[in-house]
Amino acid sequence: MARLIGPKCRLCRREGIKLMLKGERCFGGKCAIQKRGANYPPGMQGWKRQKKTSEYGLQLRERQRLKRMFGILDRQFACALAEASRRTGNTGTELIQIVSRRLDNVVRASGFGYGPASARQIVAHGLTRLNGRRVDRPSMAVKAGDVITFTTREKPRAFIAKVLEASKAYQSVPGWLERDETNLSIKVLNLPAREEFPFEIREQLIVEGASK
Ligand code: SF4
Repeated sequence: MARLIGPKCRLCRREGIKLMLKGERCFGGKCAIQKRGANYPPGMQGWKRQKKTSEYGLQLRERQRLKRMFGILDRQFACALAEASRRTGNTGTELIQIVSRRLDNVVRASGFGYGPASARQIVAHGLTRLNGRRVDRPSMAVKAGDVITFTTREKPRAFIAKVLEASKAYQSVPGWLERDETNLSIKVLNLPAREEFPFEIREQLIVEGASK
C-alpha cells in the first residue's frame, strides 16, 4: 500500500500552512511553521523563493494541501474527486466530506492516532473494528451511526490507550464524532459539515483545476 514518506514538516513548509502531521509537536513551539513562519518553503534559501504564483500553481497547491492533510496519493485523490463529481451537491464540499469520512481520518480526529500516518497504521494493521467487524482499509468510508472499536488484544490496546492519553491533552474531538475513552470507541454521530473541516482550504480551486 503506497503512502507518503519523508520529512513531514517539509510538507507543511511547502504548503505554507500547518497540516498537523506530527501530533503533539504540531501544537508546541517546535513546529517549523511556528518557528520560521508560513512563508519559508523548504530547500536551500527557501525564503528567497517568494515569486508570484500562476493560477495553475494555486490550484495545484490547493490540491496538494488536501492530499497531504489526509496522507493520500494521486490515485485515491482522483477516485475521491470522481465520486464527488458524481454526487448532486457542491463538488468541493462533497470532496471534503469524502476524505473526512475515511476511517483513518476518523481514528486520527478522535485522538487515537498521533497524526494521519499513525492513524493509518493502526487501521492498516487490522486493529480497528467497524460495527464489530475487523477492517484494515484506511480509505473505508464511515456513515452516521457507525461505531468504531479496537482490538481486544492486550498489547496493541495498551498502545492505543497510550496514544489517546497523549493526544487528548492537545486535541479536541470534532462535534460529529463521540469518543468513549473508557471503552476506547468512537461513534459517528453525523456526517461532517463543511464548517467542521479543521483546515483552511479553497476546495473550489481544486475543482476548477480538475475540470480543465
Ligand atoms: Fe511539523 Fe506539525 Fe508543524 Fe507541520 S504542523 S510543521 S508537521 S510540527
